[in-house]
Amino acid sequence: MNSRRNFLFKLVASTGTPALLCGSALGQAPPPPVKLEETDPVAMALGYKEDTTKVEAAKYPLHTVEQKCTGCALYTGKPDAATGPCTAFGGKIVTANGWCAAFAKKPQPVK
Ligand code: SF4
Repeated sequence: MNSRRNFLFKLVASTGTPALLCGSALGQAPPPPVKLEETDPVAMALGYKEDTTKVEAAKYPLHTVEQKCTGCALYTGKPDAATGPCTAFGGKIVTANGWCAAFAKKPQPVK
């Protein structure tokens, strides 16, 4: 093993943070965010729709049109943005007005 590779191997082994080597630490930009498509197999399994009004009511009887990604605890986008990352889909970008069966209402702030 050459010395650079040996150094990197020891760094990863000692810090346990291989992610440091994948992106900016080596001068590479992180990969761009990926949009979640409705045709994604996992999205299809969870009934994801980019528009909450298009959710199949017969298949998801507990769904209401008030349930949107912006009101979901798994949505990490900015409140006024049209899209944002979803932790249920590994950070893929969902629409603010979207919905899927993993919807979990955001807790209300304590007053
Ligand atoms: S888990 Fe929440 S934020 Fe993610 S797609 Fe489903 S409803 Fe939207």
